[in-house]
Amino acid sequence: MNPGTDTCDERIAIIGAGVIGCALAWALTRAGRQVVLIDRAEPATAGASFGNAGHIACEQREPLPSPALLRTFWRELTVFGGAVDLPVRRWAVLAPWLAQFVRAAFQQKRNTPALAALVTPARDALAAALREIAHPELLVCNGHYALWRGPAACARAARAARAAHALGVQTHPPPQELLERVRATSAGADVQGLHFPDSGHVIDPQQLAAALARAACAAGATFQRAEVRELMPRGACIEVRTSGSVLQVAAAVVCAGVQSEPLLARFGVHAPLTAERGYHLEMPHTAPLTDAPVLHADHNIIVTPMQGRLRATSYLEFEQHDAPPDARKIARLRQRLQALGYGGTTAHPGWVGSRPTLPDYLPGLGRAPGEARLFYAVGHQHLGLTLALPSAHLLTALVCGQPPPLDPRPFDLGRFGSLRSARQ
Ligand SMILES: Cc1cc2nc3c(=O)[nH]c(=O)nc-3n(C[C@H](O)[C@H](O)[C@H](O)COP(=O)(O)OP(=O)(O)OC[C@H]3O[C@@H](n4cnc5c(N)ncnc54)[C@H](O)[C@@H]3O)c2cc1C
Repeated sequence: MNPGTDTCDERIAIIGAGVIGCALAWALTRAGRQVVLIDRAEPATAGASFGNAGHIACEQREPLPSPALLRTFWRELTVFGGAVDLPVRRWAVLAPWLAQFVRAAFQQKRNTPALAALVTPARDALAAALREIAHPELLVCNGHYALWRGPAACARAARAARAAHALGVQTHPPPQELLERVRATSAGADVQGLHFPDSGHVIDPQQLAAALARAACAAGATFQRAEVRELMPRGACIEVRTSGSVLQVAAAVVCAGVQSEPLLARFGVHAPLTAERGYHLEMPHTAPLTDAPVLHADHNIIVTPMQGRLRATSYLEFEQHDAPPDARKIARLRQRLQALGYGGTTAHPGWVGSRPTLPDYLPGLGRAPGEARLFYAVGHQHLGLTLALPSAHLLTALVCGQPPPLDPRPFDLGRFGSLRSARQ
């Protein structure tokens, strides 16, 4: 460390120890780089990486914005009983992001191959990393199930199977025994479903990120608990100003989730991230329907078997990152789970966290323009757990100047324009 001088050490600073930063710390250390991982909290305890649904969603190959969604999203709004909350008082603030979302809907066809290239190998990449760090037990490769109830169940399941097939995603009918068990709690309603065999789930998302961080530290990385206040270009070095020190490092990677934008702005990088908040409730000691996540598709609730408990996640709430949780959503999730036949949610207080989401639902992976070696891995939206390893391998290649495993250009944040002209 050389505070106040123009020399910098060889280290690469990673800002943010969510699952993206932890996976990258592991991959860069494995590639022989010196790494300092910095977060204001212990790994994966403060952000989305703590509380996600644990689903390794290799089937989600299409970015969310689509022309069909523009026509039908209103049915999913919370005022109509759905899972999407776009509070009226936030419309003005969200207008530029929503305008880009609408534009991205008409680019879905172009963007799908880029996302598919990252998502498709994700389960295998995670399995390989977990074997290497001697924690294969954290990943279960039983796929997942989607279920629909009511008179339209059959048609909806068939439509979902056709859509999956068109993307090259395998589906099978679920076992009759599973459908019978669900019918028993559905007051005689028809129940149909699909099994997606190529997805997976993690039995504890926080433990997974922490295991990657520990493996990085065992191989020489250091973890520093501090708030990063500012990143500054210093010639080819980066100055990292934290609450406790000033470091000058050879390169820095911003992985600060939904709070990444201000750290990137000084380098001219425009990252129009929004907080797309989701909630979870946990049901300790409740037996799962099956040893795989179950998506109750009519309610947008996914229930994942985790170590010692089930975790139920839901909602897409376009709220400020640090706003208090909405108690009505937690209460409604609790009620719905009881109606779906899950009994054990009462003691859990509920958790809320922010998916870091860019308007086109592609992550931002790349390097800032200019001399400084400032990189970013942000905007992993609903898929950060899934994409942690593919993104880490891509970023490692970019940082080390090696050929990337896939074309990085669709993920460059230059697609949202630069802030340089605005600041000059
Ligand atoms: C309810 C819910 C369910 C989800 N389900 C799934 C799922 O099933 N599968 C899936 O693949 N993805 C899922 N996701 C998405 C996934 O959790 C996120 O995409 C992923 O966790 C993002 O990881 P991250 O490391 O970018 O951000 P985060 O996990 O938010 O981590 C960012 C870190 O940066 C730190 N930080 C920020 N600013 C600073 C600063 N200035 N100084 C120091 N530290 C800083 C924070 O403390 C935090 O630890 C879900 C998300 C939610 C909310």
